[in-house]
Amino acid sequence: MASTTDSAQATENNDHLIKSTDSKHPANLIPALCRKFWGLGWVSGTGGGASIRENDLVYLAPSGVSKELMEPENIYVLSMSKQEDPKKRVYLRSPLNLKPSQCTPLFMAAFTRRNASCCIHTHSQWAVLITLLLENQPSSNRVFEINNIEQIKGFGKGFQKQGNLGYHDTLRIPVIENTPHEEDLAEYLEEAMDKYPDTYAVLVRRHGVYVWGDTVDKAKAQAESLDYLFQLAVEMHKLGLPWVSSIAQIGPS
Ligand SMILES: [Zn+2]
Repeated sequence: MASTTDSAQATENNDHLIKSTDSKHPANLIPALCRKFWGLGWVSGTGGGASIRENDLVYLAPSGVSKELMEPENIYVLSMSKQEDPKKRVYLRSPLNLKPSQCTPLFMAAFTRRNASCCIHTHSQWAVLITLLLENQPSSNRVFEINNIEQIKGFGKGFQKQGNLGYHDTLRIPVIENTPHEEDLAEYLEEAMDKYPDTYAVLVRRHGVYVWGDTVDKAKAQAESLDYLFQLAVEMHKLGLPWVSSIAQIGPS
């Protein structure tokens, strides 16, 4: 229970922004998603997380809170239109005694450059394994590619494009280099977004993946489809099966 002092600070701190009885409110949804992702092994300790944007407001998970124990009170809120300097973020609501997530600049890139409503960051072992399998590609153009798998239909065709990819389409997810500090990844993530304008995800070498979507449901569905494809691709590799095949050209027998 909050002490009298905490309550007084909370009132000045726009606490109303994170209080709702609606389970779909971002302040309730982010902890629920993080608990689910923790159960899947996508986030652990303080690694990974999720952010949701509703119009001008961005809701962010904090740093330093165990993902499965996160509460609405732990959520940061900022106004996109009030951000003048990315290095000096202004928050409308900050939790007491916590720090903003180092993923914040990367989540913001998905919101500002792709108009996304949700961005999910996982440290899934399948994502990490895919980046390890791609280390023989030149770092300047490292990309995961797969086609002719049903689950590819779980992805949108691209930014401002209607509809989803088809079974025969090739899904491409670029891989960027990891950096010692997560916030420094933003520059590389933005470069990859420019180079692959239709991608909804970016892999980070030996680290994990960032996935976003036009809605929370789409971001979640794409994150799940992607993890399925990464796991499948690792198993295919073990069996010597190629990720890209030409059955599209052969057609039905
Ligand atoms: Zn991370």
